[in-house]
Amino acid sequence: MTHKLLPGKLVIASHNEGKVREIRELLGPYGIEPVSAAELDLPEPDETGVTFIDNADLKARQAADLSGLPALADDSGLCVEALGDRPGIFSARWAVVDAHVDPAADPGEVQGGRDFGFAMRRVHDELEALGDDASRNAHFVCALALCWPDGHSEWFEGRVDGTIAWPPRGDNGFGYDPIFVPAGHDITFGEMDPAEKHAMSHRADAFRKLVVALL
Ligand code: IMP
Repeated sequence: MTHKLLPGKLVIASHNEGKVREIRELLGPYGIEPVSAAELDLPEPDETGVTFIDNADLKARQAADLSGLPALADDSGLCVEALGDRPGIFSARWAVVDAHVDPAADPGEVQGGRDFGFAMRRVHDELEALGDDASRNAHFVCALALCWPDGHSEWFEGRVDGTIAWPPRGDNGFGYDPIFVPAGHDITFGEMDPAEKHAMSHRADAFRKLVVALL
């Protein structure tokens, strides 16, 4: 039986401050008191799932079991059709540049990080290798999992369709926004006013479904 999300505490099972802030804003009007996994000192599980829903579910399930509170997690990414829907669940991982040891740093200090310029170029290079006829169609997906301590779970998936542009355009947003042109528009998410993006995004689509079903 569907559970309703009642006013009270809800764990946001994410250590990403940007995501926590966005989810707080979305749930603010419903009397929900979001508390983040970082505030509760909950560990971050490895994302070992093979779908967006799997990964959202394993993050929310662990947080609900450890905290004894309902928990919400999201997992999202970019799927490029001609690349067999890659990078998909590996979207964040495509931006990890090899860790390297800086000779000027303290001995043993390893530096590494995420570079979405690098990840966007990889998308472009792989499409170029397929030739001009390859489809530039792509979509962003956002999966939400809400898990209760009694073992019940609810899942929602949102998407937004568009095409891949090159070169990257615009400084707004994050991740792959500068190469994604949503259907019906001629500017990228990176060039778009953030409020306009948020109204049409995969995350907004998934949240609309959650609100209709549970609130
Ligand atoms: P997650 O934290 O594993 O869900 O990683 C999601 C990754 O997908 C992010 O690091 C971005 O690379 C990408 N992504 C998800 N949503 C968006 C978006 O709205 N714009 C641009 N990139 C996104």
